[in-house]
Amino acid sequence: MQDKIEKLREKALKLIEDVKSSEELERARVSLLGKKGEITGLIRSIGKLPPEERPLAGKLLNALKREVEEKIEEKRKTLPKVRKVKIDTSIPGRRPKTGALHPLTRIEEEIVDIFMRMGFSVEYGPEIETDYYNFTALNTPEHHPARDLHDTFYLEDGNLLRTHTSPVQIRVMEKKKPPLRIISPGRAYRFDPFDPSHSPVFHQVEGLWVDRDVSFSDLKGTLEAFGKELFGKETRIKLVPHYFPFTEPSAEVHLSCPFCKEKGCRVCKYTGWVEIAGCGMVHPEVLRGVGIDPYQWTGFAFGMGVERIAMLRYGIDDIRNFYENDLRFIEGLR
Ligand SMILES: [Zn+2]
Repeated sequence: MQDKIEKLREKALKLIEDVKSSEELERARVSLLGKKGEITGLIRSIGKLPPEERPLAGKLLNALKREVEEKIEEKRKTLPKVRKVKIDTSIPGRRPKTGALHPLTRIEEEIVDIFMRMGFSVEYGPEIETDYYNFTALNTPEHHPARDLHDTFYLEDGNLLRTHTSPVQIRVMEKKKPPLRIISPGRAYRFDPFDPSHSPVFHQVEGLWVDRDVSFSDLKGTLEAFGKELFGKETRIKLVPHYFPFTEPSAEVHLSCPFCKEKGCRVCKYTGWVEIAGCGMVHPEVLRGVGIDPYQWTGFAFGMGVERIAMLRYGIDDIRNFYENDLRFIEGLR
């Protein structure tokens, strides 16, 4: 046993001596003193020795273990230290690339915000609609000629992609009793070509105000206040007679051109005015259909195109820019 211990001592000291890096030293330590190390193994085997040999073997092995531990510590001090990475905290950081809201989302939020400040609350409705909500309940029954104005995407199950956000008016009036003051932003779909002024998917913000004695002048005042908020104090609006089946009377909302201030420019086709919305007094048939008495309650409604307003705000003449996701374009509008 004594010989064995002496041989192991020589081997261990040589092993530690030859070590050249901290990794090698760690490997040497494990091979000698680790759980399955050689010295550890011998210490464990003491129990198998004849009892009279055990005290000496124990003493020698403990001495060896201590010696090896000391040598390892000594060796560690002579080895090159692990290089510490220097961090220069004075270097300016790299700015992470941040995402941003799409210009249409921002304009939509701006529109919603203006109406919320006027006391409107926000309601949403489904994009897949039934014929009833999209047409019939809006005073556009089957075979009504106004249905031809909408090039509708029909689904195989007979439902359709809503052609406007107006069905939300019906859904809200069915559930809630007047007075009502809501806006509803969302997508609408029409079977249109994808050209500079059309997109098969587009965004609208629908508005509805039903109360006692709501008049056409309330409608004009509300839209004018909106126009001034969005495009500046000098903005004017005019209401041009139009036809919608679900409002009577109906009008198109024209806004004084924000580019030329009514002098005439390319954007307004030299008229000084641009169309931004459709509006009118809610048709008595529509109110009756949802159980609201048109002799007690009146209301107005409007629907505006978010793309149209975004194009005016940013001076863009091609709607397709909003849908092609060219980051150079989108980032340019921040
Ligand atoms: Zn103009």
